Amino acid sequence: TYMGPTAEEILEKRKEYLSPSLFHLYKNPVNIVEGKRQYLFDDKGRRYVDAFGGIATVCCGHCHPDVVEAIVNQTKRLQHSTVLYLNNAIADFAEALASKLPANLKVVFFTNSGTEANELAIMIARLYTGCHDIISIRNAYHGNAAGTMGATAQSIWKFNVVQSGVHHALNPDPYRGVFGSDGEMYARDVQEIINFGTSGNVAAFLSEAIQGVGGIIELAPGYLPAVYSSIKKAGGLCIADEVQSGFARTGSHFWGFETHGVVPDIVTMAKGIGNGIPLGAVVTTPEIAEVLTRRSYFNTFGGNPVCTAAGLAVLKVIEKEKLQENASVVGSYLKDRLTGLKDKYELIGDVRGRGLMLGVELVTDRELKTPAKAETLHVMDQMKEFGVLVGKGGYYGNVFRITPPLCFSKEDADFLVDAMDLSLSRL
Ligand code: PMP
Repeated sequence: TYMGPTAEEILEKRKEYLSPSLFHLYKNPVNIVEGKRQYLFDDKGRRYVDAFGGIATVCCGHCHPDVVEAIVNQTKRLQHSTVLYLNNAIADFAEALASKLPANLKVVFFTNSGTEANELAIMIARLYTGCHDIISIRNAYHGNAAGTMGATAQSIWKFNVVQSGVHHALNPDPYRGVFGSDGEMYARDVQEIINFGTSGNVAAFLSEAIQGVGGIIELAPGYLPAVYSSIKKAGGLCIADEVQSGFARTGSHFWGFETHGVVPDIVTMAKGIGNGIPLGAVVTTPEIAEVLTRRSYFNTFGGNPVCTAAGLAVLKVIEKEKLQENASVVGSYLKDRLTGLKDKYELIGDVRGRGLMLGVELVTDRELKTPAKAETLHVMDQMKEFGVLVGKGGYYGNVFRITPPLCFSKEDADFLVDAMDLSLSRL
């Protein structure tokens, strides 16, 4: 039983000692004190099905015993900076990670977060090409440091950052985008940015395969192959941000970009990679990686023994427990059931996504697609009362983001949909 401070006491301390910009998701925020696989427990011992753990980096489930053991054992043996001496943890994990990537993507740089990984990827692309221009997609989220905030394209996540050399392309959004599902039409916008907004050469194109923060938007089919071809012709590199869509989440593939049939020059990752441990990575080819030998490059904790031991354990659990297959089977089942709710409630405008990266968009008018922001908040709060935690996103804040740990079961899926059904019926 939990003996610590109450939710009210924690809230008071947060108000006084933590950033005023911190937000919490619910009217009465939950005090989560324990996690086990796809479940979270509050201070009163109440169980919640965690359908948003994927964003909080968990892919094997909270406190997976194999991952915990790897972390504890390595912590007892050694925790240090990566770069100064030899240690097996970082080399073993780099080898295992490289084996999950196609083509010649085999050189790994470790970081502590997704932001750092994307910052490094952008820098590498600029060094390799000698160009400065970066193209990213509107509605993207790539991080919160100078370069990545520039590449992020939603006003709600941007401060007064100098947006050096970044161009934002039309979002190939099948639901709200101007060209519907015609990926090649959106891709023309990227070619036009190159033609009219740059010298004709660019450093890189950077995108997610499924936009996460942006509200689970699957890029229109045909978009990425066409864009990658334009970028290559302009001498640029293609960077795949797999921070949310990677690590078996899409079910059909290990990486989100594979669902589009493209091979990037650089892949960035974080979140799921360490199952809750701060870890990120940039993977690229030996030829491209070479640019970082021009100067000294150093990251104190990127790839430290404890985090990389966790990473290796995660890869083993994904394999051992067939989590990719589970994401595919349970994800399809859950998507079917959510689509069933769409037939029942006018309020649901769209159900989309792949594997265990699903989105449900609420609109007050299906024709006009008017965002149902207040209803989204209300349903989310109700679902919490029923014991289900889902996320929220999209530019208008009207999309449920369903990204549970990959061990999510059909029973959990049923429980989630029933809770959503009941909450919607009471609106
Ligand atoms: N890329 C994507 C696609 C993300 O969703 C995020 C985090 N929401 C980031 C990058 C940044 O990762 P971090 O918060 O670990 O810096």
